[in-house]
Amino acid sequence: MLKIMAVNAGSSSLKFKLFQMPGEEVITEGIVERIGAEDAYYTIVVNGDKIKKVLPVKNHSVAVRLLLDDLVEREIVRDLSEINGVGHRIVQGGSYFPDSVLIDEDVIAKIDELAAIAPLHNHAHLIGIKAFIEALPEVPNVAVFDTSFHQTMNEETYMYAIPFEWYEKYKIRKYGAHGTSHKYVAMKAAEIVGRPIEELKIVTCHLGNGASIAAVKGGKCVDTSMGLTPLEGIPMGTRSGNIDPAIVGFISEAENLTASEIVEILNKKSGYLGVSGVSNDSRDLEACMAENKRCKLALDIQTKRIADYIGSYYVLLEGIDIIVFTAGIGENSSRCRRDVLKRLKVLGVEIDEEANTRQREIVEITTKNSKIRAFVIPTNEELMIARDTVRIAGLCAK
Ligand code: AMP
Repeated sequence: MLKIMAVNAGSSSLKFKLFQMPGEEVITEGIVERIGAEDAYYTIVVNGDKIKKVLPVKNHSVAVRLLLDDLVEREIVRDLSEINGVGHRIVQGGSYFPDSVLIDEDVIAKIDELAAIAPLHNHAHLIGIKAFIEALPEVPNVAVFDTSFHQTMNEETYMYAIPFEWYEKYKIRKYGAHGTSHKYVAMKAAEIVGRPIEELKIVTCHLGNGASIAAVKGGKCVDTSMGLTPLEGIPMGTRSGNIDPAIVGFISEAENLTASEIVEILNKKSGYLGVSGVSNDSRDLEACMAENKRCKLALDIQTKRIADYIGSYYVLLEGIDIIVFTAGIGENSSRCRRDVLKRLKVLGVEIDEEANTRQREIVEITTKNSKIRAFVIPTNEELMIARDTVRIAGLCAK
């Protein structure tokens, strides 16, 4: 049996999930938050109980040490040599990584280089990687990129109609994001309908605080809504999604702001929050949509734009067999799913209202007569990271 750690390192946090493979059971999971603070939070789930501690955690190395020591102390592992591999979620892999990869000096240098287009994420991932290499020098580390699944997009899809030199000089093109999630739910959907993924046309809607949609043909991504950065595509909690780029120039002059200040607003103060003025959380907007017009408007913009993408992917894929809803909103908001599917009536989509409100893990939410089947499928990016770590590091259970 193998023990594989899936890690997601952010600028001030480190999320972890320890899996038993190949059985795919979760042994434990948790998070270190507010890394760098005197009062950081450490949370670990042991036998279903959440244990929380407040303590100083100076940096990511201290966070990794804290976590590993705790695993031994709680006898979750007898000693650290029981951990066979560590898989790291990496947001931006550029064009370099069409698949997950064993981490070495060259991979580290490329992740660092790509921080130019994903500064917040890639730098934090590298700190996490280095902390694990330091703590577990004998253990293979695997990088699993959010962008890899989207590397099958063709040139006419990933290129922007901008001066070609920007692509040559700065590698500006569409890379997409959430690829690990899109791949997982597309594979799961094929498994559920009992057909080879090679035969299927699937649209996957990852609707969380960040949100993106992907068109998957024969198991390969052919288009996705996020672009060079996660700002492109559908509106999200605080991100605008697509806008007329000339707005940046206009607001720059009108409000005397720099381009990067405006991009910050488009990332952090726009989307559902910007339109509603109330919240970035669609639960809050749903709670007040009856009496607050701007809350309702934010949610209407959300479902319209999602339906727009699905419609355009219907054309691109020459039909759709399956639509999948996943992530926080996709898995939990029956209102969002209903509104989106109703807008797709012209494509022959027929929602099963009762099934759509059922609180179950995996559920089909269209009727038998529907021309497109729709499912709610919980995503599991950490499991994909653990699977890839086993595959790429060539690990075999003893
Ligand atoms: P994620 O990024 O996948 O963790 O999703 C987080 C988001 O899911 C939150 O910001 C919420 O807006 C949304 N969410 C979670 N539960 C619900 C719910 N019951 N209804 C609507 N939105 C929800």
